[in-house]
Amino acid sequence: MSSAPVAVVTGSNKGIGLAIVRALCRQFPGDVYLTARDPARGQQAVAKLQEEGLRAFFHQLDIDDLQSIRALRDFLKEKYGGLNVLVNNAGIAFKVQDTTPFAVQAEVTLKTNFFGTRNVCTELLPLVKPYGRVVNVSSMVSSSALRGCSQELQHKFRSDTITEEELVQLMTKFVEDTRKGVHSKEGWPNTAYGVSKIGVTVLSRIQARQLNEERKGDHILLNACCPGWVRTDMAGPKAPKSPEEGAETPVYLALLPPDAAAPHGQFVSDKTVQTW
Ligand code: NAP
Repeated sequence: MSSAPVAVVTGSNKGIGLAIVRALCRQFPGDVYLTARDPARGQQAVAKLQEEGLRAFFHQLDIDDLQSIRALRDFLKEKYGGLNVLVNNAGIAFKVQDTTPFAVQAEVTLKTNFFGTRNVCTELLPLVKPYGRVVNVSSMVSSSALRGCSQELQHKFRSDTITEEELVQLMTKFVEDTRKGVHSKEGWPNTAYGVSKIGVTVLSRIQARQLNEERKGDHILLNACCPGWVRTDMAGPKAPKSPEEGAETPVYLALLPPDAAAPHGQFVSDKTVQTW
């Protein structure tokens, strides 16, 4: 078994994820894993980094596929006895002009951004070692979508006692409500991506609380963040930030020093804790 510290970034063959891997290769004192659902795209990205003189390792990971998540879990357990840094970056967004029915967009977006991210956390969080750092890449859109929810939903999503099961029920209800055409009546905003990222931010708050309750002495810090508006295939060429600039906040959270006690369970943008 290797005693090297290990960092894993999901969805890192391009965009912000690749920039996070690049920065970690330079700054993280251990093995950095670039993961991708498509091995060819992943290996290509590793080769690109190699040309820049950086060494990243590759492992396949499709966050929509439980078998794929468990294969990575078993690999990390066997080779490293766990992991030190997890960045949940993988995500999708339909383009604004996409004509796919809203109910389909809701199901597909929630499947990856919320349920996929949650499945990765369920399998990998128990493996995170003391002083580990977990970063869930959400979006400022989660805050604007929250403000677009009914007062009742806002109250639930801001609650300090909401459980993971209750959050899963709410995310499932959103998808069902879009299918029945009643999501507006039921208090949801008109954004599947926004609701999926509400899920990611609230999940992070719940997970941080669980760590406080179950692993207080392990000094693990877990946060959600927004990378900013970043020029990637997702956000297009007009966005103001480069992928490297977008990686800054996630990397800052991934590399919080061992003596840091905060931020934890926060939503962070531009390295600053935001009010949820
Ligand atoms: P991107 O360029 O489209 O990259 C998304 C990455 O996620 C790709 O590597 C993609 O792989 C991967 N991915 C998608 N579904 C996956 C799955 N099921 N399993 C594993 N990997 C999967 O987008 P980005 O802009 O870098 O976004 C990265 C993260 O930042 C996302 O969570 C996004 O919501 C968030 N974000 C972005 C912005 C922005 O302005 N760009 C703003 C706020 C938040 P493939 O190449 O195989 O598709």
